[in-house]
Amino acid sequence: MHCCEVCGKHGANNAHHRVNASQGGRGTLANLLLVCGSGTTGCHGRITVHPRWAKAHGYSIRRGVEPSDVPVLRWSRYLGAHEPVLLDDEGNVEWTDQEVGEPCHRVSP
Ligand SMILES: [Zn+2]
Repeated sequence: MHCCEVCGKHGANNAHHRVNASQGGRGTLANLLLVCGSGTTGCHGRITVHPRWAKAHGYSIRRGVEPSDVPVLRWSRYLGAHEPVLLDDEGNVEWTDQEVGEPCHRVSP
């Protein structure tokens, strides 16, 4: 049984692409989160329905941004709490003190 990487609930069986597959996101470990729910339910649904929330926590990333560079607020079953981490494609999870989510980008008018 897997724990959801967003809320910690048991029974996560959905792979969520941080950079959406339709946006060029790949099936690499840094780009995938194991989450509960599906398209409209659980954390997978919440990510879909609340894109700004998902972006602010590193669950969703714009196309072209490298997922291993974007900290994500991930549920840790060891801590029993969320912690900001960086994921890499070897499956390593590294604690970080960087702010989660994408860094601010200046949007040209
Ligand atoms: Zn969940």
